[in-house]
Amino acid sequence: MSADLHRLGAAELGRRLAAGDLTARALAEHLLARAAAHRDLGAFNSLDADDTLRQADASDARRRAGAALGPLDGVPVAVKDNLAVRGQPLTCSSRMLAGFVSPYDSAVADRLRAAGAVLHGRLNMDEFAMGSSTETSATGLARNPWDPSRTPGGSSGGSAACLAAGLAPLALGTDTGGSIRQPASHCGLVGLKPTYGLVSRFGLVAFASSLDQVGPMARSTEDCRLLLRALAAPDARDMTCLPADARAPRALPSGRKPRLGVPRRLLEGVAPAVRAAFETAMAFYRADGCEVVDIELPHSELAVPAYYVLAPAEASSNLARYDGVRYGHRAADASGIEDLMSRSRAEGFGPEVKRRILLGTFVLSAGFADAYYGKALRARALIREAHLAALAGVDAIATPTVPTAAFRLGEKSADPVQMYLEDLFTIPANLAGLPALSVPVGSDGALPVGLHLVGAPLAEEALLDLAARFERAHALAHRVALP
Ligand code: GLN
Repeated sequence: MSADLHRLGAAELGRRLAAGDLTARALAEHLLARAAAHRDLGAFNSLDADDTLRQADASDARRRAGAALGPLDGVPVAVKDNLAVRGQPLTCSSRMLAGFVSPYDSAVADRLRAAGAVLHGRLNMDEFAMGSSTETSATGLARNPWDPSRTPGGSSGGSAACLAAGLAPLALGTDTGGSIRQPASHCGLVGLKPTYGLVSRFGLVAFASSLDQVGPMARSTEDCRLLLRALAAPDARDMTCLPADARAPRALPSGRKPRLGVPRRLLEGVAPAVRAAFETAMAFYRADGCEVVDIELPHSELAVPAYYVLAPAEASSNLARYDGVRYGHRAADASGIEDLMSRSRAEGFGPEVKRRILLGTFVLSAGFADAYYGKALRARALIREAHLAALAGVDAIATPTVPTAAFRLGEKSADPVQMYLEDLFTIPANLAGLPALSVPVGSDGALPVGLHLVGAPLAEEALLDLAARFERAHALAHRVALP
């Protein structure tokens, strides 16, 4: 049995641990050996075997002592390298934070420790979560386990590669414009970006604070739900985190068929094989007792341009703290404070991060702020209104997650705009603060294809219910790409 542990989902592992058929120690050792054997995938930035084993042993000890334990006790969860884990490196895959060790736990690390989960390694990502391929990582690129010549997506590409290769049953990602859902789609996984405010960002290294969310990634909807429930909680340390009385989940309606809305007009540029997988999924939902209707989603064409004003504007402000003075990379031979700051930043940040800082500083500069930043805010408001209007008539907005399947490493690096268009379908949910997930619905013939569902605020469980209908009818859960 031990040979197949990496194929099991978190819920099943939790059941075996509870039944005494498995120890957290044996599970951790199996996954550590597997991670060592698949280092070439670039999934982890660092993996502290002693730390993993210590936590696993502590879980086994709790169980031996007869404590009442939750379903995640002893289950490893791999963590993206932009979420603070006390005593572990926190690099955001940037030279700027090379060698930095976190002095405290993020809120999600707190929650997972309280659930007894084993925090397992630090996952590779695009530098400061800026990118869609994990190629902007300063620690080396990550590969797609379904085809190592291709990207796993990004920015949570390490999280996706880790899950698809069976290196952990669960992973945390973060999503500012698609960074959970796009890699989930490219690697055949379930990835969910929660409603803005559902999960605390305390201890998440900020990229664009009005858009960032932490969320679960898994190989099944059941596991994704389990992790979501562990993460979602009020937290006074993040002032955008929803209080206990503002978290009532929005369920699917009971009196009528669930209704999916398809914004047909937006599907024009989708690759034919991705489009075909999407239409097959819509046909399934119709046959499965859902209504599938065409909807209009006006102003959608403004989403990518508005995002690439707002996200860089916020990033330029958030990344001002890396000045070589308090922490992070410090240039060696600077003469004076200004030289120290400019050299430290020139040496510490990679090209994509610099591009975003320049863009963000420009759109906020005196004389231009209203023409760019102000206009983008107005576009954002229109997009949110259009989405809420559409969601008054349907339970989810359905599109493919990404217009194409995973591309070859290097294929889009030279053209930032091509890279930015990877997030065409995912960005609006961030701008509107809405929950959205990607669930596998087949392949383009060779590579995984995801279905993207966007719901009304706090409709996470309803989206998972809808996704689970497809998953149950097809053998697309718990797929691991490698033997
Ligand atoms: N790919 C988008 C970007 O580069 C989104 C990244 C994210 O969600 N963190 O900004």
